[in-house]
Amino acid sequence: MMKIIDELKGAKTVAVSGHIRPDGDCIGSVMGLYLYLKKEMPEAQIDAYLEKPAEIFGCIDHIEDVKSEFNTDRVYDVFVALDTTDDRLGEAQAIYRRAHKKINVDHHVSNKGCGDVNIVEPERSSTAELLYELMDPEKVDVQIAKALYIGIIHDTGVLRYSNTAPRTLQITSELVKFGFDFSEIIEETFYERTYLQTQIMGRAILESVRFMDNRCIVSMVTRRMMEFYRVTPKDLDGIVNHLQSVKDVDCSIFMYETGTLEYKVSMRSNGKVDVSAVAMKFGGGGHVRAAGCTMNGTYHDNINNLSIEIAEQLKAAGKNT
Ligand code: 5GP
Ligand code: MN
Repeated sequence: MMKIIDELKGAKTVAVSGHIRPDGDCIGSVMGLYLYLKKEMPEAQIDAYLEKPAEIFGCIDHIEDVKSEFNTDRVYDVFVALDTTDDRLGEAQAIYRRAHKKINVDHHVSNKGCGDVNIVEPERSSTAELLYELMDPEKVDVQIAKALYIGIIHDTGVLRYSNTAPRTLQITSELVKFGFDFSEIIEETFYERTYLQTQIMGRAILESVRFMDNRCIVSMVTRRMMEFYRVTPKDLDGIVNHLQSVKDVDCSIFMYETGTLEYKVSMRSNGKVDVSAVAMKFGGGGHVRAAGCTMNGTYHDNINNLSIEIAEQLKAAGKNT
């Protein structure tokens, strides 16, 4: 397998970034590569760009270096886009476009590759796992290992989802050998929730509705609810996973209001529905079992439109079994 450093030879300035509303894999990957390149290319200037990471990721070394102000006039020798396509880079997209060389490393099935160099492997559990393969294991240190570990556990639901392959576990084992407190990381970045986060999750679950013979479940959070509980979109992570863990549910939908008649949609499935295909119909993407999109329209119109796609898939799957 090629190594990322071979694609960066001679570069004096390198930018590393990931998608908008960055999650654990996105942040872990960006920071893992950032720390690795700082060490491997001491002469070069390495910058990490991301929307401000959630506080729980404060345990990642040098997270304070992340630039959340985007100087779109900057021209980098190389720009590495991680865990995303260029259209989800947000404000960093303008910087990406100007870069002399674009490298895209990702594991989303919906990504067709948007760089001059594309390393897109949908069978990988996480971008962090794929990045580890692109690094020289001898050059990985405890801080890089910790960042990559966070990426892997967040995208695999702590090594629980079906995207966890034997190789994922091997890599995870190599990472934990560095001796960081993985148990504390899992607790503090994955499971721990504030009281208000727990309350709004409880409310979303309480108000959820099942349909299609209880094979689908949906819930939503309005802007007013978010104001009432004093939470932001970052605080809603994990709600859709709880909906998906309901017995007999094949597909779950969670949405929150982002503007007038605008909703951010998250979907999960047990594999019977390809939610990435559903999300792609509405301009989004993701993985077979976890995907998302942004939809315009009323809550009920959105459910109707999503249900049509989901029902078609369940019908087709039913015919095949
Ligand atoms: P989540 O529901 O946790 O926000 O996202 C689930 C998966 O779908 C993640 O891999 C995420 O990157 C992807 N995803 C979520 N929203 C979008 C979107 O609007 N567009 C694309 N292309 N992918 C998305
Ligand atoms: Mn990911």
